[in-house]
Amino acid sequence: MTSPIARILKDAIRTIPDYPRPGIEFRDITTLLGDAWAFRRAVDELVQPWAGSKIDKVAGIEARGFILGGALAHQLSAGFVPVRKKGKLPSATVRIAYSLEYGLDEMEVHKDAVKPGEKVILVDDLVATGGTAEAAVKLLREIGADVIAAVFVIDLPALKGADKIRALGVPVHTLMSFD
Ligand code: AMP
Repeated sequence: MTSPIARILKDAIRTIPDYPRPGIEFRDITTLLGDAWAFRRAVDELVQPWAGSKIDKVAGIEARGFILGGALAHQLSAGFVPVRKKGKLPSATVRIAYSLEYGLDEMEVHKDAVKPGEKVILVDDLVATGGTAEAAVKLLREIGADVIAAVFVIDLPALKGADKIRALGVPVHTLMSFD
């Protein structure tokens, strides 16, 4: 995290101590989203490696990945695919269980959300342990997607989540890190 732009974008993130539980430093992107210049610039920086490439779909992880994903899809002239918590999607889905810090959760995607071989970029606001994004990559691959990258505004490198996603063969692009 060295570029002047990255430093300015990092200043647009608000940190809430002890939320949602004691000991967690919550990195709140709503302050970045509410800043017109920072939001636009973050979207530009997230898509920059794929400018001019043919990307079929952007898949966003509920819920903050939806906000970023819609903007990324527009920028890349791609479609948008919602990866949702279980029970929210109306048509036929595939589902995967994944571990959270406490317990298990499940996420779903519509079976027909991508055509086999379509190039998909996955997006979420933040990668921590990487468990959420790993599950999303597996789900997207199950329906035939070629997941060509995973992008996040924020990396928490101490938790090695980005390494987990790279180990799946998916390049990772993040804009900033918090120790
Ligand atoms: P993980 O599966 O551990 O990589 O967690 C990533 C998901 O949890 C993302 O959807 C984030 O929005 C959320 N998350 C985890 N840790 C934080 C944090 N410190 N601040 C904000 N969001 C977080």
